[in-house]
Amino acid sequence: MRYFDANATTPLRPAAMSAWANAQSSLWQNPASPSSAGARAASTLEHCREQLATLTGTRASGIVFTSGATEANNAVAAFEAARTPDACAIVSAIEHPSVLEPVKKFFGARRLRLLPVDASGTARLDVLKDWLAAGGTTFVSLMAVNNDTGVVQPVAAAHALAALHGARFHCDATQWFGKFPAGGLPACDYISGSAHKFGGPKGTGFLIFDTVRNAAFSGQCGGGQEHGRRAGTVNLPGIAAMLAALDEADAEAAEENTAREAARTRFEEIVLQEIPGAHIHGSTAQRAWNTVSLALPRHDNLRWMKRLERLGFTVSTGSACASLDGSPSHTLAAMGCDSAVVRRTLRLSAYWETLPSDWHMLAGALGQTARALDEEARHTDPESGVITVP
Ligand code: PMP
Repeated sequence: MRYFDANATTPLRPAAMSAWANAQSSLWQNPASPSSAGARAASTLEHCREQLATLTGTRASGIVFTSGATEANNAVAAFEAARTPDACAIVSAIEHPSVLEPVKKFFGARRLRLLPVDASGTARLDVLKDWLAAGGTTFVSLMAVNNDTGVVQPVAAAHALAALHGARFHCDATQWFGKFPAGGLPACDYISGSAHKFGGPKGTGFLIFDTVRNAAFSGQCGGGQEHGRRAGTVNLPGIAAMLAALDEADAEAAEENTAREAARTRFEEIVLQEIPGAHIHGSTAQRAWNTVSLALPRHDNLRWMKRLERLGFTVSTGSACASLDGSPSHTLAAMGCDSAVVRRTLRLSAYWETLPSDWHMLAGALGQTARALDEEARHTDPESGVITVP
């Protein structure tokens, strides 16, 4: 199968697999144990923290290892809501549910304002500026890269605006790491990341926080691990594997992103030519090299997905977390797409092993699928008026 659902998850990189196996076999002791074996595990854990700090250009003391981005996002929302009990949060309307739902739960709907995006799927800085100037906001959250469209968000400008008005700024950078340089984000108050989006293991991630502004930050209680900021036995093999994956992904991003983007652009040109009426969401904005949110002119996206699967391609109808409850993409809805267009949209997301030839074959398979579905529609409903795509 050719895999085009990398925004949902990626396979484990071999380097991560071997780091995991090494740590699991020789460093399996609990880093919190006072034994000398425990001390060795603890020293490796701190080495991983230093490595992540170096890769991200942050401080090791501001890194908390978590079970993933969902945990990190929940922890930030809970902490910030309690820090300023009467103030409001501004959160972009296209955030992942792991940001939207905790902020709604902990701040309450009355204290939450959803920042709109424009038609390209980019957060509206003009609105953010006005809302912050009106006062009463202590927390802003804007993701680095949207998981549905791949649109890169204006994080540096939003962070600067939040800082100007004394609000804390959180960036869910889950879809940034591994695709863009790990050190390319501004010095936010909080940054969340997740290993399984860049070739690390599932169930491992991190939160980076500003140790000066948010010195009291704590995500969990019930154990003194992670310097008292997050309770629970530390997953050292997962963390070691995550660092091996990020190290590799980061080196690749520096070398290969230009060629990767060119392959994706060529794919889009072919598809738009092959399937008249097709449209790419967010195409006027800067996007991650791996993501294409493709609106098709006809037929339900599930039918496209199943046909493509039979042709050997794994694609998606949208965010895996949203698909779980069957809800259509709230990102596309926030961009002003009507629900019929959302139901005809496929999310195609590549990863580091995707070759230009894979994109090329996917373009061919999409053209073939368009013809097959049109043919099928003409058979089941001769009055459908479907004209077979040449
Ligand atoms: N934020 C974004 C933007 C995501 O794409 C995801 C994964 N779907 C998450 C958060 C949740 O990450 P995790 O699986 O590590 O909890």
